[in-house]
Amino acid sequence: MANQEDVFKKVISHAKEYGYVFQSSEIYDGLSAVYDYGQNGAELKKNIREYWWQAMVQLHDNIVGIDAAIFMHPTTWKASGHVDAFNDPLIDNKDSKKRYRADVLVEDYVAKIEGKIDKEVTKAAKRFGEAFDKEQFLATNGRVKGYREKAEAILKRLGKSLEKEDLADVKALIEELEIVCPVSGSKNWTDVKQFNLMFGTQLGATAESAMELYLRPETAQGIFVNFLNVQKTGRMKIPFGIAQTGKAFRNEIVARQFIFRMREFEQMEMQYFIKPGTQQEWYEAWKEKRMNWHLSLGMGEANYRFHDHEKLAHYADAACDIEFKFPFGFKELEGIHSRTDFDLGSHEKYSNKKLQYFDPEENKSYVPYVLETSIGLDRMFLAVFSNSLQEEELDNNTTRTVLKLPAVLAPTKAAILPLLKRDGLPEIAQKLFNELKWEMNVAYDDKDAVGRRYRRQDAIATPFCITVDHQTLEDETVTIRHRDSMEQQRVKLAAVKEIITKAVALKEWLGRV
Ligand code: ATP
Repeated sequence: MANQEDVFKKVISHAKEYGYVFQSSEIYDGLSAVYDYGQNGAELKKNIREYWWQAMVQLHDNIVGIDAAIFMHPTTWKASGHVDAFNDPLIDNKDSKKRYRADVLVEDYVAKIEGKIDKEVTKAAKRFGEAFDKEQFLATNGRVKGYREKAEAILKRLGKSLEKEDLADVKALIEELEIVCPVSGSKNWTDVKQFNLMFGTQLGATAESAMELYLRPETAQGIFVNFLNVQKTGRMKIPFGIAQTGKAFRNEIVARQFIFRMREFEQMEMQYFIKPGTQQEWYEAWKEKRMNWHLSLGMGEANYRFHDHEKLAHYADAACDIEFKFPFGFKELEGIHSRTDFDLGSHEKYSNKKLQYFDPEENKSYVPYVLETSIGLDRMFLAVFSNSLQEEELDNNTTRTVLKLPAVLAPTKAAILPLLKRDGLPEIAQKLFNELKWEMNVAYDDKDAVGRRYRRQDAIATPFCITVDHQTLEDETVTIRHRDSMEQQRVKLAAVKEIITKAVALKEWLGRV
């Protein structure tokens, strides 16, 4: 087994080599934590966005989608709390001059403890063989229990200190744990300071008329300020949701880990407006719905877990993350937050406009509560991409690199391959291509031996290869070669469209959970 770092390096180089993700402005040596999506990446990203949009908007008759502007009136960010509280605690190492997020340093330390627990489990599983009961082992093994208690105590203290803004204690914790700078190896730290993550810019041409603006750090506020517009024009009744996908910007202090943490990224958010007092029930319901959305992609239940927040953001009364097992460990993929009436209430105050809903059943007006689901599109991309990239040993002692993206998300659904460039095979293949291209993205490939063409399609994740050969001339059948199993199935040419359309249909995937 390759180690985590090697796996992650392979993910990054594969993403580049096959036109998924490039560094921004690469010819000028790139821009830190900003990335561009290539010809295949743009398709995958679009498909993930669509899969989310369809699940949220198309499949819910009480959720609608909007597309708000990136620029918003600056008071928005006073009301939302971002001007005063959208900070990360940072710490510098005096020797390497490198800057870190203090909370991430501590979390990485805890991740190492979790790594030790995993090692104990692997060792024990080997020792006990068939009879191994993981749950029992985790609950009873002394060493594991010790690790767990330590990890929990550290996270609890970190959460408390951050909540109280006790930055001196965060530093004290880093010192007590003897955390060293990964670059210099020293424990020579500065104090912990707060750093606001919003990017500022200016609107207007002249210095006098210019208005200080921010690039939005989240898409949610575009939904809150439009709450009444949508509710009234759409005649929405509570409970109802507003969904949106779009760019957000954060001046991240430590922007590494490829597209996991970017300075310009895309969010997919949904705000669900509910009756005050029902938030607990909706919180549980949306946790389950969102987890099911993830599981529908078939990437393995063991790769997901919920993580409840110790430290609640200024707007939340309950919050958790759905974490995914990235090549560098379990990390946040999506957040589910019970935001109470914080945002609408605050916008009422700052704007002096009523942002209330008249409830015909209760015969009274109130500021609705909000339940939010918020997922990073780029992070989801990384989750799917890294999980799908596999090196397989084949029977004939060769290996193949295959990107097993869920077919519903794959950039190209099928490649049409005439076995030879003669004998009338290209004409049949071309005809099939022309028929399928109206339904989905398909590729036509007639270069090199067919085995090499299969490998090329494996590497860019095309789930089906359809080969037209001499038998096609005789009985109008073709082979469908399945990417994951490499099995070949002989089917009628006339049936191809239906088979592939069904295999990549929304209902086949989302419909099964
Ligand atoms: P983190 O703790 O990793 O900084 P967060 O808790 O600040 O994330 P939220 O504000 O809850 O994140 O944003 C919702 C989602 O947006 C996250 O779950 C994540 O998927 C995505 N996201 C947040 N920041 C970034 C970023 N810098 N790059 C890419 N995706 C991001």
